[in-house]
Amino acid sequence: MNLEPTELDHRDMDVPFLRVASRILSASGLDATVWDFRVGQPNVAAVPGPVLHSLEHMLAVYLKERSDSVLNVGVMGCRTGFYIITLGAVDFGKISRLVAQALEAIQAATEVVLANPSECGAAEYHSLAGAQEAARWLLSRRADWAETVRRTLHDQPRSRPKPSVRCPKGDA
Ligand SMILES: [Zn+2]
Repeated sequence: MNLEPTELDHRDMDVPFLRVASRILSASGLDATVWDFRVGQPNVAAVPGPVLHSLEHMLAVYLKERSDSVLNVGVMGCRTGFYIITLGAVDFGKISRLVAQALEAIQAATEVVLANPSECGAAEYHSLAGAQEAARWLLSRRADWAETVRRTLHDQPRSRPKPSVRCPKGDA
């Protein structure tokens, strides 16, 4: 059974946010949640590829290190965010805490994990500085991670200007 949460029009999204994209409960007992961690404004500001790639590596490794509930992290093809897949009962409080801890670890990192030719298909296509700048910005907006969903549910007008994640000078 696929339990669909409230549908969200991409034009109404106000990044950053973290929400349930879908939850799957199967007859065999599988309980999986796909989280939408949105960091770039849809149709306005895609995240630069190297920044997205480095964030993907580090979010996946750091989240899985911190919790057995995290199965994997994948990038969205539109380059505006990540799918974080969790198993079992994981609520917003738990996943947002884990993501915040992973972002703090990204800020403290001295290299992008697994960014080498034997473990990555584009080992040069990374930006540690860009990922750290994005992590800093995402943490500074942590109080807003649930806001898009709250606003959509209560149908309040959009108020803030559109933010964006960018590549620092010198990166691809
Ligand atoms: Zn890679």
